[in-house]
Amino acid sequence: MNPSALLVSTNRAEKGAGYASRIAALEDAIDRLYESVPFGTHCVAADGTYSRINALELAWLGRQRHELIGKHKPTDFLTPASQELVRRHVENGGRSGFVDLELELMGADGEVRPIAMTSNWLVDPAGAPAEHRAILFDLTETRRAREQSRLAALAFDALTGICVTDAQGVVLQVNKAFTEITGFLPEDVRGKNMHILNSGKHEPDFYRDMWASISQKGFWQGEIYNRRKDGKVIAEWLSISTVKGADGAAQHYVGSFFDITRSKADQAEVSHLAFYDPLTQLPNRRLLQDRLAHALQLALRSGLKGALLYIDIDNFKTINDTRGHAAGDLVLLAVAQRLRASVRECDTVARIGGDEFVVLLDGLDRSDEVSAARASQVGQTILEVLSRPYLCGDFEFACSASIGVSMFGEGDVAGELLQHADMAMYQAKKAGRNALRFFNPAMQSVVMARVALDQDLRRAIEKQQFVLYFQPQVNAQGRVIGAEALLRWMHPERGMVPPGEFIPMAEETAAILPIGQWVLEAACAQLQRWQSRPATAVLQLAVNVSPRQFAEAEFVDRVLEVVERFGVAAHLLKLEITESMVLDLEDTSEKIRALSARGVRFSMDDFGTGYSSLLGLTRLPLAQLKIDQSFVQSMGERPSDAIVVQTVINMALSLELEVIAEGVETEEQRDFLARHGCHLFQGYLYSRPVPIAEFEAYLAGH
Ligand code: C2E
Ligand code: MG
Ligand code: MG
Repeated sequence: MNPSALLVSTNRAEKGAGYASRIAALEDAIDRLYESVPFGTHCVAADGTYSRINALELAWLGRQRHELIGKHKPTDFLTPASQELVRRHVENGGRSGFVDLELELMGADGEVRPIAMTSNWLVDPAGAPAEHRAILFDLTETRRAREQSRLAALAFDALTGICVTDAQGVVLQVNKAFTEITGFLPEDVRGKNMHILNSGKHEPDFYRDMWASISQKGFWQGEIYNRRKDGKVIAEWLSISTVKGADGAAQHYVGSFFDITRSKADQAEVSHLAFYDPLTQLPNRRLLQDRLAHALQLALRSGLKGALLYIDIDNFKTINDTRGHAAGDLVLLAVAQRLRASVRECDTVARIGGDEFVVLLDGLDRSDEVSAARASQVGQTILEVLSRPYLCGDFEFACSASIGVSMFGEGDVAGELLQHADMAMYQAKKAGRNALRFFNPAMQSVVMARVALDQDLRRAIEKQQFVLYFQPQVNAQGRVIGAEALLRWMHPERGMVPPGEFIPMAEETAAILPIGQWVLEAACAQLQRWQSRPATAVLQLAVNVSPRQFAEAEFVDRVLEVVERFGVAAHLLKLEITESMVLDLEDTSEKIRALSARGVRFSMDDFGTGYSSLLGLTRLPLAQLKIDQSFVQSMGERPSDAIVVQTVINMALSLELEVIAEGVETEEQRDFLARHGCHLFQGYLYSRPVPIAEFEAYLAGH
């Protein structure tokens, strides 16, 4: 109902007196109607006082009707600010037409009520304002809602990045902070799935758990790596909550997050400071202890030994005293660098004091001796590199180091080890510096013996201390078809040293290279002699090749050169390799192929003890498989070994390879092998490895 239309119709001056009572009745009806409407309404007479007011507005004001009619003006019940607003409005000529104002009513109890007032001045026929009628709407609820949405908008534009998606994770809205943190503008992401923020740094499990939590608890919170628009990965602290619809189903998801990349970087820096030496960036004592504990666990599990090398720079104090601390720092930095360069990537080099460094070597070897030898080798290298001059600006500084070593294995205690290595280091200092000492005296003598052996070994070739022994290889008819050449070292003091005692060491120190070359030449010289006599012209000779020798780039050329120099028929030479050499299948098969093309044959020695894959085996152009003696010897005892032997034989036959068994000691072994298709044998049953004269005597006898 349009109130002004009603008012117009109540303009009595225009109507005849006959209508007066009917109009009064109508007005009563309207007044009664107004008593029940959900808004306030009043009329104001020309003098500005109330002429009518409805029940709701009276209730707002907390007054009785008779207190107001003809006595108060509506402005009496406005807050001062609203009174001011009305005054200014009237001043600006606002006494005609419709007016919309937002004002504040003040009730009798002082309660302030925001209202929206729509009013209209009615004029008399002369055009003067006669009556003012107003309708007032309570704004309390609207204001509250408006305030809430203003707050929400404020929050939405806070520092926290916010992203609202629909139930499918499609982005509906993001705030400014979202753009600041992620670099994505609202138009970049709106309508796209949240996945576009994924950094790829989390496993699928991570997201699965996250969504499980959201669907169960309606909420998830945690650290997450997301990708910025520029591709940079940032760490965020993210909370995701579900907004549910009336039916309880997820309607929206609201993700709010802040950037914690910086604080993560701080954390990393703090932990770096806690575990690393600030000058050299090497692990400090704390981290070393950590790594040592780890290494001890490893030793327990693997049975492999390790070593702790305690290194102290001799006379370091002099450089600090004479050249200042800056020069001292330069030397320490250089020492750190040289130490790092002297060990494997996986070894730990730590700085645990002013000029004290520790090198932790783990996973060395099962044998104490071999491990100690390795540690000693690394120590010697370190002594050598640290004694090279240090260039500090315009002057050169020379110093040496003293090293104490303590070996460790299962059951050792971390705390003691460092102490032992330290004590050994003092022994090294006492021995005149630039020296290395083991904590364990037994270890010390073992290492000394090895060092001596190594030195002897290096001179063994020129002193002609090597000899080849020959062990016959026999076919099913008992005929000798050839021999395996086995190396013997005739040591002037130690007597005959078996290969097991020096070959592994020679392999480590590369001394095996000249030795291997010597063996090859000695073997070819022997083949040449055999070739020249009809009785021995068809004898084959098997020669063992060491992994290091085989790995040499020049291996193929060296073999061919020797074969040609001695003029031997290449097919009489058989090279024995082991499965451990087949690690690089490509390189191995290329070399074998190259030599096979010239007639040289290959045998896979100790077959069954390594890890060669069948597939690899089929790709290598081998001539022969040699069943390892350990299987042959336990064939009678362990049925499983008998099965292995049968399998190997069958496999060799189906790959069209020759198969030979080594370590055959008894008739039973030979018969079992023969029954299963193996027709070549080598072992004590026929002969031990013997010098050439004995071998040839054996040959003559058979
Ligand atoms: P291998 O090539 O597997 O040699 C077989 C070993 O088994 C030889 O030990 C041989 O004496 C031994 N043997 C032969 N028949 C029997 C038997 O019936 N019963 C028992 N119990 N043992 C038997 P040896 O001569 O001590 O050689 C040991 C290893 O040293 C060789 O194993 C080989 O790997 C290496 N080796 C020997 N000579 C050379 C060489 O000139 N160069 C290289 N790189 N390694 C060599
Ligand atoms: Mg062999
Ligand atoms: Mg063997």
